[in-house]
Amino acid sequence: MSTASINGWCITSLSPSSHSSLNNNNIKKIISHNTLRRPSIVARLSSPPPSLIQNKPVFAAPAPIINPPLREDMAKDYDEAIEALKKLLSEKGELKAAAAAKVEQITAQLQTATTDGKVFDPVQRIKEGFIHFKKEKYEKNPALYGELAKGQSPKFMLFACSDSRVCPSHVLDMQPGEAFVVRNVANMVPAYDKIKHTGVGSAIEYAVLHLKVAYIVVIGHSACGGIKGLMSFQCDGSSNTDFIEDWVKTCLPAKKKLLEANGNVPAEQLCAKCEKEAVNVSLANLLTYPFVRDGLLKKTLALKGGYYDFINGTFELWGLEFGLAPPLSVKDVATILHWKL
Ligand SMILES: [Zn+2]
Repeated sequence: MSTASINGWCITSLSPSSHSSLNNNNIKKIISHNTLRRPSIVARLSSPPPSLIQNKPVFAAPAPIINPPLREDMAKDYDEAIEALKKLLSEKGELKAAAAAKVEQITAQLQTATTDGKVFDPVQRIKEGFIHFKKEKYEKNPALYGELAKGQSPKFMLFACSDSRVCPSHVLDMQPGEAFVVRNVANMVPAYDKIKHTGVGSAIEYAVLHLKVAYIVVIGHSACGGIKGLMSFQCDGSSNTDFIEDWVKTCLPAKKKLLEANGNVPAEQLCAKCEKEAVNVSLANLLTYPFVRDGLLKKTLALKGGYYDFINGTFELWGLEFGLAPPLSVKDVATILHWKL
């Protein structure tokens, strides 16, 4: 178990191997203590929830999809275009950067068009994917989809990374209707901020107050590019990106904690540790949302941290415990997964 102060808030998290837990009095102390330190955050326990969002489609099905014709001489055209650009590049030195980017773009398009001798058609991929889903899942489970047509009542709110390898519905075998999901770079939850973070804030508010989810789970993962960025970016105020650096610094306290604890170890070598510690920062940030704190105190809501390692095929689960069951260990989860297989 570790305790840290983040953004003026205390978080006590249980490592996956720990079985000790906090009791309600301790949590109340933590929350009341920190409420005093952050007087701008006001609990809104008595305010009525806003009316529900309308359950209507936001767009209609499009007219029949038009498949653009593929020309057999496409590759030849690309070759000619690249040669022309290279010639231009040699003649006009000042165009070097722009021309190099164009060559790279056209080369990428050429590779997309000729890999394995097959043309990748994104429209066809989406069409076939939906047809498969509709035949194999939607039409085979009318009871489920009939219920979902009436509304949703998910038990979980999940935060997961946008990384294409870590879709939580796949990894945790969750069906439609089971989880309200937010995905962003490095699965981060920023602290309560009505100006900067309305997207994440509205998702948490909707999940907790309207859907009344019972669990919020923040799931980190192995080889996370966002965490790698956090660990490698300079913290001197300079920035080379429009958004990424500013965003991943949401979990800067995790980086600072690891650097302080690991002396001269290069930051890049601490990425795996930071992938988990950043989850703890996000759990702490969740405590800055008044409706989350209210749910914790009423025991209608629990917070969990998760870590999916797709290199070794493991999943860890831990949490801010409030006298509930001990966290699943890697072994427990591995057993469950093995049993399911
Ligand atoms: Zn990631």
